[in-house]
Amino acid sequence: MSTSIKCKDLEKSYKGDGVETHALQGINLSFNKGEFTAIVGPSGSGKSTLLSLIGTLDQPSSGNISYDGKKLASMKQKQIADFRFEHIGFVFQQFHLLPTLTSLENVMAPLFSRKVPYNKKERAQEVLKQVGLEDKENSLPSQLSGGQQQRVAIARALVHEPDWLLADEATGNLDTESGEVIFDIIQRLNSEKNCGVLFVTHDHDLASRANRVIKMKDGSVVSSLVER
Ligand code: ADP
Repeated sequence: MSTSIKCKDLEKSYKGDGVETHALQGINLSFNKGEFTAIVGPSGSGKSTLLSLIGTLDQPSSGNISYDGKKLASMKQKQIADFRFEHIGFVFQQFHLLPTLTSLENVMAPLFSRKVPYNKKERAQEVLKQVGLEDKENSLPSQLSGGQQQRVAIARALVHEPDWLLADEATGNLDTESGEVIFDIIQRLNSEKNCGVLFVTHDHDLASRANRVIKMKDGSVVSSLVER
């Protein structure tokens, strides 16, 4: 089961030091289940803000987001946390792995104190295999390359079988070759597991390989093109 996402008249402002920044200025977008969308645009155009709102990490200043028709604004904090756990996986530019934990422990970390209907260790081993790191489960992050660390982060994002993967500059810290590997893994997960993807990137070559490319500028969507 996966979820469709609808953003309606979404606005987000940040206030600080007497200055108000309008990070998002009326976003209207829908994302179909299983769709692979790239989001591009200059720095400061609102891409990360959009992702954090869709990922329920933050709330809009006005407008709303709904998931299969259910409005985020109608959910209580606990419901939002459960929704995020069940449906959303995040991958960031900085891998954010815990340095003292092995790959396997990092991947299992989101399941800590959660009741799940499967064996946590076996599930973590399965997702590490999906990203080609079954032989690195006992390695610490410091013993892995950047590309491998990002693969652990992807496995961690997928361990609870989300139906959306939100990737914010996931290849931004990697060389071109490692970035390609990460993109290919995400693309394969999209087609094989029907996991929807929102992929924020500066890399127009990678973006052109998504089903759809959204361009943002100054907090607005300037184009939304279906590539294929
Ligand atoms: P992008 O991801 O496209 O680089 P962001 O969504 O990070 O853009 O930022 C959009 C605008 O909002 C920028 O002007 C940025 O400085 C501002 N912004 C983002 N997060 C915050 C915050 N927590 N507090 C204040 N301003 C912020």
